[in-house]
Amino acid sequence: MPLVVQKYGGTSVGDASRIRNVARRVAERKRSGDRVVVIVSAMGRTTDDLIRLSREVSDQHHPRELDMLLTAGERISMALLAMAIRDEGVEAMSLTGSQAGILTDTSHGQAKIRDIKAFRVEEGLEAGKVVIVAGFQGVSPDTHEITTLGRGGSDATAVAMAAALHADVCEIYTDVDGVFTADPRIVPGARKIDEITFEEMLEYASAGARVLMGRSVEFGMRFNVPIHVRSSFHDEPGTWVKEATMEQPIVSGVAHDTSTAKVTVRGVPDTPGVAASLFTPLAVEGVMVDMIVQNVSSEGATDISFTVPLELLDVARPIAEATARAIGAAGLDVDDQVGRVSIVGSGMRAHPGVAATMFSVLADAGINIAMISTSPIRVSCVIAASQVDEAVRRLHDAFITAEQVVAP
Ligand code: ADP
Ligand code: ASP
Ligand code: MG
Repeated sequence: MPLVVQKYGGTSVGDASRIRNVARRVAERKRSGDRVVVIVSAMGRTTDDLIRLSREVSDQHHPRELDMLLTAGERISMALLAMAIRDEGVEAMSLTGSQAGILTDTSHGQAKIRDIKAFRVEEGLEAGKVVIVAGFQGVSPDTHEITTLGRGGSDATAVAMAAALHADVCEIYTDVDGVFTADPRIVPGARKIDEITFEEMLEYASAGARVLMGRSVEFGMRFNVPIHVRSSFHDEPGTWVKEATMEQPIVSGVAHDTSTAKVTVRGVPDTPGVAASLFTPLAVEGVMVDMIVQNVSSEGATDISFTVPLELLDVARPIAEATARAIGAAGLDVDDQVGRVSIVGSGMRAHPGVAATMFSVLADAGINIAMISTSPIRVSCVIAASQVDEAVRRLHDAFITAEQVVAP
């Protein structure tokens, strides 16, 4: 009997009628003969609302309690969906991440799944039930504490659970028809991509295409779980994320991310060990640093700039300030009004002009580039946050609509 893991995002379970709609779809799939495991997100903007509420109550950082709070969002959805599926005449049972055996490391707010002991899920399936699992959460076997997996983490729960159960497919149901060539909310003419490789999707997700969380793509890649991203509102096929695809466009898509901040440590002595003394404490505190640029000036001092996720700026800033003082730097600048635009495509490997074309497109639009980073299949530029939407549209016009104009 085929086994499918389905994940429904926040909008798809946003209110009672949408939950009943999901229940009908799940029940239909179960009646067609498949075994079904469902992963749910919190309803609508519940996670954002809970974060806001916690800030109204306290301006301190309480990682353990925040995780306790946020996991409540997914618990609400899982219980309501179980009720609605049972009303459809299909047996269903909900489990928290911890009950479902999702074991993580100890890092609150951005825990990584270490293992899945899915025997309660398997028992439920054997009893002929639909098993519903709360997304985005797990438990640390070391501390016995409840953890969350980071924003968008239900995608990771879904693909990891699909891998653990050797499911035939992991279906990610969302509020768009699939993965598009750019965020369809910014580029109305963006096209749905029929299939994309794990490698491209991983770059695309890390560049900000939040339709799939990057970590979920890593699981898909590692355990070769085919992922089908599709709409929860109709039955049309969406986007298949898989090992290899027939086509290798030069640029598959344009991604953007406005949740980035840029930190510059000015006038750093140009001596060995300085970069290590800055980035080691950041790493210890779990701050993921993205781009790093170092400019050596003629006076023997350097400026080191780097980007961090905006949500980690409050953690990164005091560390950078303390290090700047300790190493005798001239000062520290923080810019939280920046964003990142990226182009991604596996065909880029064989086409050297792609980055140059990207810079020309941005220059023609009068957009200044503050930082650049590349991988073999991605080019990213940090620009002013206010210019991100315009940059995405211009790049989409040049590379996707006009079918990849690449400088010689
Ligand atoms: P869910 O709650 O279902 O997990 P998300 O909000 O996390 O949904 O992800 C879906 C959203 O991702 C879409 O509504 C869309 O605005 C945004 N998005 C950004 N980039 C892309 C892209 N390249 N293709 C599709 N959607 C994208
Ligand atoms: N509810 C969590 C979030 O909003 C997890 C998810 O939806 O995937 O980030
Ligand atoms: Mg999501």
